[in-house]
Amino acid sequence: MSSEDKKHITLVHGAGGKAMHELVKRYILKYFSTRAVEPSVPVPLGALDDAAVVGDTVFKSDSHAVKPIFFPGGDIGRLAVCGTVNDIAVLGAEPVALACGFILEEGLPFSDFEKILSSMKKACEEAEVNVVTGDTKVVEKGALGGCVINVSGMGKRTEALEHNLAVVRKYRPSFKARWVLDSNLRAGDKIILSGTLGDHGLAVLSAQEGITFGSSIVSDVKPLNHMIKRLLGEVGGILAMKDPTRGGLADALNEWNQKSHIGILIYEDRIPIKPDVRAACEMLGIDPLEVGNEGKIIIGTVPEKTEQILETLKSTEEGKDAEIIGEATDEFDAVAMQTVVGGKRIIAQPLGDPIPRIC
Ligand code: MG
Repeated sequence: MSSEDKKHITLVHGAGGKAMHELVKRYILKYFSTRAVEPSVPVPLGALDDAAVVGDTVFKSDSHAVKPIFFPGGDIGRLAVCGTVNDIAVLGAEPVALACGFILEEGLPFSDFEKILSSMKKACEEAEVNVVTGDTKVVEKGALGGCVINVSGMGKRTEALEHNLAVVRKYRPSFKARWVLDSNLRAGDKIILSGTLGDHGLAVLSAQEGITFGSSIVSDVKPLNHMIKRLLGEVGGILAMKDPTRGGLADALNEWNQKSHIGILIYEDRIPIKPDVRAACEMLGIDPLEVGNEGKIIIGTVPEKTEQILETLKSTEEGKDAEIIGEATDEFDAVAMQTVVGGKRIIAQPLGDPIPRIC
């Protein structure tokens, strides 16, 4: 980063990855993170997980500023609902209610606003959750690109989560966590990726640049709470889950490395990527591991249940392309990839997603 970038907020600070984590740690945590963790907030801001836990309720807020607001396979409304639903679901909770704040730009056609609302309603129906409160504001015509949407939400514990934790404790009696957290991994745990990488980022990029990379490139944006609930309730043994959004798989795995204090080894030949996405990434010089996804999760499992979780995932529409991509290890403290040409390469935390305003 240049010295100018250190004085002002730049687009890189909004692209996930190192720059965004630094913005959060250096500024937001400075004011809102309390050192003495309150017992009423078992998963606080400082945990920097996908959502917080207050009492026994999962609590999450997420804003969306994707550009453009309509892209192949989705739009800002669907993205806003799914982003919050998935961040609640990856802690093992079931979303119960959403709040929605719209910042609308002067000049946005009512027809576009309705298209976004109807898409949000459809996503809510798929996730079986609803918007129960919210707010609208209007700003002068400028750089919003139509609108910005915030969706916040609450989630609750379920029998599926209790079942999952009971299965974990069967294989790991010392396990104490009451939620599925980024900090729960230990050496030997397996890592599953629920489907192909890069689809969302490349779909947004094609809409930004007006280029078509291939007909199969559409956003994967979808609510994953039903798929996750099935895995927790029917199988169990899940320790950690994360949706690899901005910064992609590379950023998500580096977060696990930092929060679980464990090395992570993945295998290049096991990472599912569609041929069109791979070709487009090669052409543009983009690493598909750093591109954001909106309908995928990584799952850390106890080794004994990995195959069964994979089998169940593959039986769902959302998880049909799932693969076991690696494992946690105490042999090194980093994220590394066994490459197809042989040898290991370090997967560093990206500075930011290579595609700006992706969500
Ligand atoms: Mg997340």
